[in-house]
Parts: sequence; structure tokens; C-alpha cells
Amino acid sequence: MKKPELVFIPLAASSHLTGSIQFFAKSLLDQDEHLSITVLIILLPPQTDLDPYTKSIVSSNSNIKFIIIPPAITSHIPQPFSSSICIEMFVHRVCESHKPQVELAIKDLVLDESTQLVGVVLDMFSSCMIDVANKFKVPSYMFCSFSTAYLGFLLHLPDRHNQVGDNFHPSDSDSVIPSFQNHVPANVLPGAVFDKSGGGYESYVYFGTRFKECKGFIVNSFAEVEPYALYSIVTPPNVYPVGPLIEFKNRNDSSGSTKSEIKNWLDNQPLKSVLFLCFGTMGYFNESQLAQIAIALERSGHRFLWSIRQPPRDGNVATSDYTNVQKVLPDGFLERVKERGMVCGWAPQAEVLAHGAVKGFVSHCGWNSVLESLWYNVPIATWPLHAEQQLNAFLLVKELELAVELSLSYRSHGSELVMADQIERAINSLMNDANPVREKVKDISEKGRNAMIKGGSSFVTLEKLVQDMLQNINKSEQ
Ligand code: UDP
Repeated sequence: MKKPELVFIPLAASSHLTGSIQFFAKSLLDQDEHLSITVLIILLPPQTDLDPYTKSIVSSNSNIKFIIIPPAITSHIPQPFSSSICIEMFVHRVCESHKPQVELAIKDLVLDESTQLVGVVLDMFSSCMIDVANKFKVPSYMFCSFSTAYLGFLLHLPDRHNQVGDNFHPSDSDSVIPSFQNHVPANVLPGAVFDKSGGGYESYVYFGTRFKECKGFIVNSFAEVEPYALYSIVTPPNVYPVGPLIEFKNRNDSSGSTKSEIKNWLDNQPLKSVLFLCFGTMGYFNESQLAQIAIALERSGHRFLWSIRQPPRDGNVATSDYTNVQKVLPDGFLERVKERGMVCGWAPQAEVLAHGAVKGFVSHCGWNSVLESLWYNVPIATWPLHAEQQLNAFLLVKELELAVELSLSYRSHGSELVMADQIERAINSLMNDANPVREKVKDISEKGRNAMIKGGSSFVTLEKLVQDMLQNINKSEQ
């Protein structure tokens, strides 16, 4: 039998790349040693090389082949933040312009007669590569680094568009979205679907439309946490929930407090006493908002570990650590809370959540953070910032009752200031032992862990996925 080969084409932004490669590819290889995986990496201009973190992933996965696709030869790719198009449309166009190079790379792979291409694994931003997979007559699978409910939302967009023919508006009444039990208010929908002029809405409808051509959706979620959403997607393609696939050891990006300082500090706190505040790879606040958080933390009296990042600088997309965080905090704050609080830059989030001293998590509700919090049984107070995070917050609070509402609709580029009172109330509710959310999270946490062990729902789904993929080879050999 020829060696079955899968080609992954993820977006070269770190959390997508880790999501799709680190965890999923490794679990596939664990399932079937005959499989081989090649990852084609498309760089996003102005990126000309992999970032150090992605390089470390490449070098630590010797059983996975990585190929960087050469830049597209076209002058039509706009720069992301200097132009009028939104980031989603920009990334989509970058992917689109790389189709010929991706086709050549796959041709090279299949030239080897001992190899049989069995499928292409894409992510939302590379969905246009379905065209390339079609040329090779192999099925496309979509890796979803987001919730099943959000997958349902994306699939709903083209149907809604056929009926309504227009983008969403902030004043729209609540929407009926099949993957949500409750009607969904407009203020928790992703900002892109309101954006007509920058192409946000158009690109989302495009993604949803292409999704329907896939043979399967591989979702980083598990059946027990989102049964409603899972069963709402009734028609093929198949949905394969294979999670929670989480990163047990985070990269160490701290330039201020090091990992060991954070660990030492946590080691000296009582069990289940610390509130952890952390807002993902892109999250930051202005000084007025930081001051309100500081007031709330001071008043609440809880122990806390607070990760503060500064806005992207010098044309970078990502946030970075402050060299002197004291300058952006209220006068004397650090001195007043020094017995019970620690402020840091980049935090080793998974390791912090795994620490026995941590009791609650104020989170921006990025899907990886949600899964990590569930895995480690640390309930969330929701503070979404951008992308699909508002919808995740809504899912956690209203649909699943697995989180405390701090805010559901805050947007990082809006003008809203969340006042200390609101923050303090949510923190106190989160840290209260009697809050029913704590029991619910504990139960789902166990279910999530069980899903991953032999015989568990996600384990069995992964086995089924591999079998389904291998059927592709049998079909093409007949
Ligand atoms: N993360 C971390 N330390 C930080 C901020 C983020 O380790 O200070 C990790 C976090 O554990 C998660 C990822 O970065 O694995 C963030 O992914 P998520 O989907 O939650 O949010 P995004 O960064 O994509 O908005």
C-alpha cells in the first residue's frame, strides 16, 4: 500500500499554527503511524521568515515535514494596516495569491510514487485552497480552532445572506442562529460581519460558503461541552470534535517577570486563592481602563496575578511587555498591593492555570484560553476583546452557564470604559465558592479530560476520522 499523505495549509499566525499542527497533527500520527504529514506554510507579508516560536515548533516535530511556500509574485497584495481592507480580507487575498505555488508544492509531493495524497487540511483563512485540493481530486477537511457553535454560525452566514442579502447592523434585532439555543444579540457578533466597506462581511460569507464544500470539520472542542451546537449541524459534512487539544507548556515570551518568578510567587500563595487576569496574544487596555481594573482589584481584596501587555509597536501585530509597567498603573498601586498581588507581562498561562493556587480567571475568551480554563477547572469571568470572543463569552455565560459575566460585548476598538464596580462585582461572584458555575466547570473539566483518553468521545472520533481519511486512499485505488 502507498504511504498516505496529508497536506496541512494553515495560516502562519502562531495560535493557528500551534492549534493545527502541534496538537492535531501529533494526535493523528499517534493514531496511525503509516500516515505522513506535510505542512505548507504561507507567510503573511511583511513577514519574510517564520517567527522564533514557530521555528521551535518546526524543529521539535521531526516526524512532520514543513515547507515554506515562496511569496506570491503579485503586486496586488495590500498592506494590512495601511489600507482600507480588513485583516480577514487581507489574509484571504494573501492565501488566494499563493494558490499556484501551493499547487506546485503538492505536485512535487505526489511525484513520489510511494505516496498517496489522501486529503488537505485547511483552516478558515486558507479555505480558498479547496480549489487546489479539487485539482488533485482529494477531499478538503477544515480544522476549526474555534467552538462548534461558531462553526455553526459561519455555516449559517451564506444561508442568511441568500435570504437577507446584506451585512449585519448593530441595530439588528437578536438573530436566530441554528447552533445557539438562545437568540443571539447583534452586539456579540464578530465585528467583521458589520463591515461592508473593508470586506469583513464578504470574507465571512465566502468562508461559510466554501466550508460547505469540505468533507469534514475537525473541531477543537468535545461533544460533552457543546452537544446542542454539535447536533444542530445535521447535514454532511461530518463534524469531528477531537478536543480539547491544548498546549500544556506555553512559550516563554516574558521579558519582565520570568516564568520562575511567577511560579515562585504562586508557590507562596494559599491553595485556590488567586485570581488570574490574562488577555491573549493580542489583548491590551488603555491607561484609563487599566486604572479601573486596578481599583477593582484593590477593593476586592483578592490575591491576583495580572498579565499586562502594551499595544503593538513599530508596525508589529502582536503586543509586547512594558519595560516599566508602573508608569501605566495608578500611583502607588503596586506598593499598596505588593503583599497579595503580582503584575507580570507575558504569562505562562497553561502552567499558571494548572497551579493549585489559582481559583478564577478573567479572560478575553479566546478559544484556546477557554479550553485551557476548562481543562484545568478554573472558571472564567468573561472580558472579550475582538474576533469571535464576544460570541464565545455569550456561549459560555448564556448557553452553557460555564462562566461569570463580566462583559459580553466589550470591544477593544470601541470607546466603552468598564467601570471598577462592574469588574469588582464579577470578580467577587467568580471567586465565591457558592457560585454554581464552579461545580459545572468541575464537571465539564472531568468530561473534557475523559473525552481524550482511550474510549473517550474525542479519542473515538479521532479514530473514526483517520479511518475515514484512509478510505480516501482505498477509493482512489479501486
Ligand atoms: N498565552 C500565554 N500567555 C499570555 C497570553 C496568552 O501563554 O500571556 C497563550 C494562552 O495560553 C493560549 C494562547 O496564548 O494558548 C492564546 O490563544 P487564545 O485562542 O486564547 O487567544 P488569542 O491570543 O488567539 O486571542
